[in-house]
Amino acid sequence: MITAVVGANWGDEGKGKITDRLAQDADYVVRFQGGSNAGHTIKNEWGKFALHLLPSGIFSKDAVSVIGNGVAVNAKILAEELKTLEDAGVEHSKLIVSDRAQVVMSYHMLLDAYEEERLAGKSFGSTKAGMAPCYSDKYAKIGFQVGELYADRETLMPRIENVCRIKNTLMEHLYHKPLLDPEEIYKEIKENAEILRPYVAHTSAVLHQALKDDKKILLEGQLGALKDTDHGIYPMVTSSSTLAGFGAIGAGVPPYAIQKIICVVKAYSSAVGAGAFVSELFGEEADELRRRGGDGGEFGATTGRPRRVGNFDAVATRYGCMMQGATEVALTVVDVLGYLDELKICVGYDVDGKITTDFPNTIQLEKAKPVYETMPGWKCDITGITKYEDLPKECRDYVERIEELIGVPVAMVSNGPARDELIFR
Ligand code: GDP
Repeated sequence: MITAVVGANWGDEGKGKITDRLAQDADYVVRFQGGSNAGHTIKNEWGKFALHLLPSGIFSKDAVSVIGNGVAVNAKILAEELKTLEDAGVEHSKLIVSDRAQVVMSYHMLLDAYEEERLAGKSFGSTKAGMAPCYSDKYAKIGFQVGELYADRETLMPRIENVCRIKNTLMEHLYHKPLLDPEEIYKEIKENAEILRPYVAHTSAVLHQALKDDKKILLEGQLGALKDTDHGIYPMVTSSSTLAGFGAIGAGVPPYAIQKIICVVKAYSSAVGAGAFVSELFGEEADELRRRGGDGGEFGATTGRPRRVGNFDAVATRYGCMMQGATEVALTVVDVLGYLDELKICVGYDVDGKITTDFPNTIQLEKAKPVYETMPGWKCDITGITKYEDLPKECRDYVERIEELIGVPVAMVSNGPARDELIFR
């Protein structure tokens, strides 16, 4: 049976923490989309780690960590991440990487950076990890799958020369940057082949066998539903699907095998990068939440950029859970809100004078104004509480109001960044 752990919001919901905890009982933990463009922060007995590409199950000695075919793999970053864990003395799990995953090449990162530079103030706020160029090349069929890194020179050179012809037109005429050299790219491909060699596997065959053997598989999503290429706030989205449904494709498993979909929901809102954010807070109120948020403040795990923060948005979250097909919710960072006298929940959007609870398309969303409902705060620290009944009444009321508004049972309440700071209901 497969459980997916995915985000309902804009990412940074705390999926890494929830996956790290659930991975203790899993046999396989699989990343199925994205690349090193975002990060999960994990705090456990080994220390505090920012993972970008590695599955959060890497800390479990028994679970196999899988990088699925839907991921964009930057081999050098993967090697660096593994080294960081080894330097910290982590006895990590076995890692396998799909031979069908796409390879992020250095020119993907260059093109990402050049495009951001060209767009200047109108940029997407890319993390410059090469995702958009890499996924574009995948669908234009000019990318390289991991398995192709081991092809001979005669097979690779015509593909490389074709890539250079296309990219160098952009390099010369659009970006005015140095041209790509096919020999250098061939060398890079062979370097990547050596870095990845110990890990390459037919991961979907491995996972199908695991299903036959009744093993427990966890799929780990990156970012959240509102950053999904199709269903998110297009074009301010990421370049791969962030939805549990895509897990079937990005991990190469049967869709009907994904039976449990744990949607991670943040008890307030946060987002990185540009795009409409209806319940966003500004000024001192925002600064205080950003300072107190997450574990040591709301700053990006990959970039260190300050995250935008806001009140809980029930409209966006209900939609996020719906698109994920959530069967249950893990509500995180509830402990952070203990300082507030009252909490505002965005229960509707006012679009041109009409109130809606359906998350609209981007053009409508840009015009939406939040409609708030207010609840009393609990004004105390809830860290260390292990039973739901022991949470202050105002806190339980907040959790249950969220549950009612999003229409999915809240099965877990997270009250701290550490692995065990999790209340099961
Ligand atoms: P992910 O990408 O969804 O895994 O999220 P990130 O790791 O980018 O951001 C979540 C941040 O919140 C991290 O710093 C976590 O350590 C932290 N975190 C997760 N759950 C909780 C929680 O319940 N309480 C607090 N205070 N921090 C949490």
